Amino acid sequence: MPAQIGIDIATASTLLKQGKLVAVPTETVYGLAANGLDPESILGIFEAKNRPTFDPLILHVRDIPMAKTLVNGWNNTAQTLAEAFWPGPLTIILPKSDIVPDLVTAGNTTVAIRIPNHPLTQALLQLVEFPLAAPSANLFSYVSPTTAKHVADQMIDRIDYILDGGECSIGIESTILAIEGETARILRLGGLSIEAIETVLGHSPTETLHKNSNPQSPGQLEHHYAPQCRLIPLCKKGEPLLSLIQLLKNPLLTPNFGILLFSKQELNVEDTFYLTKLQEAGKNTVYILDELGDIAKAGNKLFSTLRLLDSDGCKEVYFSWAPEIGLGRAINDRLMRAST
Ligand code: AMP
Ligand code: MG
Repeated sequence: MPAQIGIDIATASTLLKQGKLVAVPTETVYGLAANGLDPESILGIFEAKNRPTFDPLILHVRDIPMAKTLVNGWNNTAQTLAEAFWPGPLTIILPKSDIVPDLVTAGNTTVAIRIPNHPLTQALLQLVEFPLAAPSANLFSYVSPTTAKHVADQMIDRIDYILDGGECSIGIESTILAIEGETARILRLGGLSIEAIETVLGHSPTETLHKNSNPQSPGQLEHHYAPQCRLIPLCKKGEPLLSLIQLLKNPLLTPNFGILLFSKQELNVEDTFYLTKLQEAGKNTVYILDELGDIAKAGNKLFSTLRLLDSDGCKEVYFSWAPEIGLGRAINDRLMRAST
C-alpha cells in the first residue's frame, strides 16, 4: 500500500515503534526516519533508498541529554556548539556509545547527531523514546527532497507514512562538523555557515572536503545530490559570468538545453534580449534561483529547481555559481557535486 501523507504524529510514532519508515520534515530537507537503535528498522532505510551500507546515517534527537547517551566524550566544544546552534542545521560527529548500532555508523567508531528544528518532527521526537535515524528521503545520490511531494514522487511505494510539514525553510542539508578533542573539522558544507561557526568557536574550523574514496567521511562523496540532466558550469567558480551570447548562438547546442542562473543580475542587456527571443520561440528555459541574488532564498530554491530541470525534460543545463560566502559556499558545493 502506498504511504499516506498527513500531519498525524500519533500515527507516525506508532508506525516508528513498529519498526516502520516515516518521512519527516526538517528545516534542512525531508528525512526518512526509523528507530535509530533498532538494526532491523535501520536496514529498512538503506533498502528503501538503495543506499549502500557504507554511507552512515545521522541520528536526530529531541534534546542534549539524549545526544549525550549516544556518544562518548561529550566535551566543551560539543556543548558550546549544541547550545549555540541546536535545534538547527548543524550535525556533530563524536565517538559513538555502545547503544548505537554499527549499521547506523557504517562500522565507524563515530556517530553523527543533531536536533532538527521543525515543530512537527520535534513533537514526534517527544512521542518516541528513541533517536530517529534519518538520511534524506530520496533515492541514493539523487537530489534531496524539500517538500512532501518530492518525497512522494520517489518514495511513496517504499515507505509507510509521510509527515507533511510544508516546504523546508532552509532547503540544504546540515553542515557536518567532526569534533576531535576540542577542535572541529568540517566534513560537509551545509545550512549553517562557516562564518557563524567561527563566531561561536572564536576560530575557523579546519576543512577536508571532497575526498571521494575516504570511507571515514562518506559525506564527502564527489558525485551526489545530482539530477538526471547534465550540468555544465558557464564559468569558473569565483569568476564573473561573461556574456551568454556565444553559447546561445552555438549551432551545436542541444534543443532541450536549460540555463540555471544564481540571479537575474548576472545577465547583460544583450543576453536578456536574446534569451527573451529564444523563449518566445519556445526554444529554452531559464531558471533563476533568486531574481535579486539573495543567497538564503536561492539556497531554498536550489533542490526544487534541480528537480524541475529533470521534470521539464532538460538534457543539458548550463549554470552559474553563487558567491563564495556564507550559504553560497554550500550552494556551490551542491552544484559542484551535481555536475561531477
Ligand atoms: P544525508 O542525511 O542523506 O544527508 O546523509 C547523512 C550524511 O552524514 C552522509 O553524507 C554521511 O556520510 C554523513 N555521516 C553520517 N555519519 C557519519 C560519520 N560517523 N562520519 C562521517 N560522516 C558521517
Ligand atoms: Mg542524502
